[in-house]
Amino acid sequence: MSRVRGRWAPTPSGLLHVGSARTALVTWLSVRAQGGVLVWRLEDLDPPRTVPGTAEAALEDLAWLGLDWDEGPDLGGDHGPYCQSERGPFYEAALGRLAAAGRLFPCRRSRKDLQTLSTAPHDLPPTEVEGVTRLSADGTPYPAAWRPQGLSADWYRNFSDPSASRPPDAALRFQVAAGEVSFDDAVYGRCQQDVAQQVGDVVLKRRDGLYAYQLAVVVDDLAMGISEVVRGVDLLASTPRQLQLIEALGGPAPRYAHLPLVLNGDGEKLSKRDGGLTLQALRQAGVGPQRLVGYLAYSLGLLERPRAKAPGDLVKDFDFGRLRRQDWRLPEDLATGLL
Ligand code: GLU
Repeated sequence: MSRVRGRWAPTPSGLLHVGSARTALVTWLSVRAQGGVLVWRLEDLDPPRTVPGTAEAALEDLAWLGLDWDEGPDLGGDHGPYCQSERGPFYEAALGRLAAAGRLFPCRRSRKDLQTLSTAPHDLPPTEVEGVTRLSADGTPYPAAWRPQGLSADWYRNFSDPSASRPPDAALRFQVAAGEVSFDDAVYGRCQQDVAQQVGDVVLKRRDGLYAYQLAVVVDDLAMGISEVVRGVDLLASTPRQLQLIEALGGPAPRYAHLPLVLNGDGEKLSKRDGGLTLQALRQAGVGPQRLVGYLAYSLGLLERPRAKAPGDLVKDFDFGRLRRQDWRLPEDLATGLL
């Protein structure tokens, strides 16, 4: 049997906070419990959002926590490059395959056109109905009637011609398939969504030339042989569209485990405003890594009480079935509590 390959894939848009550290910890625990390989991938797709120095700081923060990895931007490996900003040729190859399979189309609709659809779909929190986690979106899905009719056989060759005098003024969308998508999440159980009805066709390359997260994550997970994806529950509703994309590209789907969110003292998702909840701030306040690891494990349901623990102490008993599904609200004075 081939070894499990997990990945940790932060976006370098700010300093690492307690929520991302918790995701990293669980990703690491599961991979190490299975004797697998941990890949570190930098999701620096969107240059304006990249904050210089945060990728290096994240590597340092994880090492401080006591986590290690086997492949990544610093270590190299057989599946590089490990920074998405250097992986354009992989994304172009995937777009070409989707175009050849008739699953891609150019979308020249303006922002104004899209606004006539009331609001663009945005994901809602999951709801459980009769033991099934339903994933839904608010807003109007991209109308199938807006797909261009009668595209010429070589439209994509002309579209992606590097010698063209002007870049094409269009986004590229993935034509989603009709019907329910179902999968089993290691934490949230059976999950379902009708992607066509809830979300509609998905942008894979933006009009300004940037590749979309939905494309890059799928292409990279496939190319890097990722068999297990651990990430926040805010991405649970993205999973069905990613599964459709994986199927269209002909790859095996990884196993998914989504983690409940960590909220600040006001009950909101952690953001840049919660500067005191970054690993750097906690470290500067004198919090030790094992106190934080123990607290994170407690918040997940892996320990009955918050006790200082090295990550390695938690490997033996790790099991996704023990993780709670409820979001975790941090106390205002987390640093003081952990000293
Ligand atoms: N880059 C995303 C983040 O930092 C994670 C994407 C994923 O795990 O699929 O939240």
